[in-house]
Amino acid sequence: RLYNQVQDLKGTIRVYCRVRPFLSKQQHQLSSVDHIEEGNIRIITPSKYGKEGHRSFSFNKVFGPFATQEEVFLDMQPLVRSVLDGFNVCIFAYGQTGSGKTFTMTGPTELTEQSRGVNYRALGDLFQLSEQRKDTFAYDVSVQMIEIYNEQKGLNVPDANVVPVASTSDVIELMNVGHKNRVVSATALNDRSSRSHSCVTVHVHGRDLTSGTTHHGSMNLVDLAGSERVDKSEVTGDRLKEAQHINKSLAALGDVISSLAQKNSHVPYRNSKLTQLLQDSLGGQAKTLMFVHISPEFDAIGETISTLKFAERVA
Ligand code: ADP
Ligand code: MG
Repeated sequence: RLYNQVQDLKGTIRVYCRVRPFLSKQQHQLSSVDHIEEGNIRIITPSKYGKEGHRSFSFNKVFGPFATQEEVFLDMQPLVRSVLDGFNVCIFAYGQTGSGKTFTMTGPTELTEQSRGVNYRALGDLFQLSEQRKDTFAYDVSVQMIEIYNEQKGLNVPDANVVPVASTSDVIELMNVGHKNRVVSATALNDRSSRSHSCVTVHVHGRDLTSGTTHHGSMNLVDLAGSERVDKSEVTGDRLKEAQHINKSLAALGDVISSLAQKNSHVPYRNSKLTQLLQDSLGGQAKTLMFVHISPEFDAIGETISTLKFAERVA
């Protein structure tokens, strides 16, 4: 039976990388990305980061600046689909602010069917597959939107903690409410969304119509806070506190994933709100995708190297 097969499989961790294209007004800038091929990315390293020259990193997949939203999703589709078989799946978008995390997960501000990101495509695909299986399985799908800011948890859809959804249009409506609440609740003027972790959790309850057995799968789609280092000499007060919370939680996430990758017996879930929240969804038979994002500008090389090193550590 499907559910028993699921129990036998080991958890997996994979790492993808995506390089954002130059934005329209910066076409002629120098790029730090020298070469991309399947799972490899080679960057140009200036001497202050060690030996001057090139450095290559290998991941499960590297998407260049011309990769479409559809291509990106196609690579993640088997992972997404396994949720209907009872797996727990976590997809994290990591990278400095402006590197394309929200573009990958949600899409650009002006959404079209073509530009829609992983969140919409993943849910659309789950509905499509559950429709195909409707003679053998009955599925209930519900969605929860959570924001973690300064190590505190907030619900983006306050009155409706876990919302049942049955179609892509339900999801679009819910996400619009969620995004609006995220903006409304921003106290500071500057873009708080880049300094909070935004988590869309999809719960799937499946019932085998022949045997009556049930199973539960979940998918966490996490648009992480910007990973950039903040210069302590330049920020104070709330901004410094925010930066420290972000550093702490991203470091804790890295620690959890790398200890899962190394199959350590102790996994330090308790070191941040984010990893506590996702404890049940990471590890065990869970499947994790760390999707790191790179800004192509040569000026961003310091953050690019630190992002690639983070990715290398969890791979
Ligand atoms: P982040 O969420 O990491 O701060 P965004 O997703 O907001 O970054 O991306 C920054 C800008 O770059 C946005 O204007 C976005 O639309 C654009 N952008 C990001 N990735 C891509 C891409 N792959 N193709 C085209 N535009 C992109
Ligand atoms: Mg963003």
